This record gives sequence, C-alpha cells and structure tokens, in this order.
Amino acid sequence: MSAQTVVLLGPPGAGKGTQAAGLAAESHWPHISTGDILRAAVAAQSPLGLQANGFMERGEYVPDPLIIDLIKERMAAPDARGGVFLDGFPRTAPQAEMLDQLLADLGRQPAVAILVEVARAELIARLSGRLTCQSCQRIYQLTSQPPRHSGICDVCGGTLIQRTDDQPETVARRLAVYDEKTAPLIAFYEQGKRLTAVDGMGSQDQVAARLKEAIGWS
Ligand SMILES: [Zn+2]
Repeated sequence: MSAQTVVLLGPPGAGKGTQAAGLAAESHWPHISTGDILRAAVAAQSPLGLQANGFMERGEYVPDPLIIDLIKERMAAPDARGGVFLDGFPRTAPQAEMLDQLLADLGRQPAVAILVEVARAELIARLSGRLTCQSCQRIYQLTSQPPRHSGICDVCGGTLIQRTDDQPETVARRLAVYDEKTAPLIAFYEQGKRLTAVDGMGSQDQVAARLKEAIGWS
C-alpha cells in the first residue's frame, strides 16, 4: 500500500498538536506542522526558505504554492515514506485540492482527514486555563498540566503569563473564526467520504486510542 497522508483537523484547544506528536513518535511517520517547516526552511536559508522569509518580513501570508512546495520537499525525505500527519495545512478547501494534486503527483493515496471534536465549553475552559512561559514559550494548562510551582516555568524558571490570545473574550472570537474558516474544509472531506470525527474529550491516552482506531491501526 502506498504512503498515507492523515490531515488532522480540530479547533484550537482540541489537543491535536499534542496528539499528532504522540502518534508520530509511535508510528515513525513525521508530524508535519506548517509552522515548523516554515521556521526550519527559513533557518536553513534554503531557496524556498528565503522566498518564504521575504513574505514574512513584509508581514504577508506565505502564498499557498510556496507552502505546497515546502510540504512536497518534506514529503520527499526518507522518513516520510510510510505516511505523514499534516497539522496546520490544509486550512481551506482550495488548499485541500492543491494537496490532493500534490499527492497525485507523488503517487500517493488521497489524504484522509480526522476531526478532533471537543465541546465548546470545554475548549473555552482549556484555552483560558493556558499559561505560557515568557522566556521559553513552554505552554502549561492549569487543570491538566500545571507547573510544579505556581506562576513559574518548570524548565527555565521564567514567569508564566496568560497570552492575550488565551483570554476568555479572545478565545470565543478565535473559536468563531475557526468555525467560519474550517466549515468548507470539513465539508470538502465529508463530501469525499474522507472525514472521520473523533471524540476529543477524556484523557490523552483515550483520545490517542480513538485516533489510532480511526486511522486503522487497531
Ligand atoms: Zn520557561
């Protein structure tokens, strides 16, 4: 069977980044986060990285074709032969179509999408309980992953703050923007019968088990 591509979808606070990292470690499939590959390409000053940097320095979005090229380059690496988890891309239905074209070009199966669903009230509680270290940017969660000493980073001793992004009124707005932007993408994968919804409530292990079942590992 040719390489699989699993697109992880879910609102901010659904825990998909953490889940993707865990699944990637277990499967040895890379977790391809667009933010990470952009930062890596810029740091490496690769031709694509230099182009992307130009847009970012001007405060502009990096255009889709450039992101697609970066993903293509990352997928060509030997560790991506078995499959990959995509996190942060596609974000729109046109991007999902571009991804399908890329996968066809690479001779891979069409992507499948997994949507991690979490009740709205729980998302708001999770996001507004987030604290970020001012120095090393590590994220804590007051109920599920609190720091050992209140207000102090376990790793570097820095001060923990609540980012403006995580304040309750901002959280509600972020979730509304997510709904509006993501609905067409969810519809795209639903129409193609390529979407599986997974319950994102419960412990990290419980959610991981559901995700593995959705991917067909169990
Ligand atoms: Zn820190």
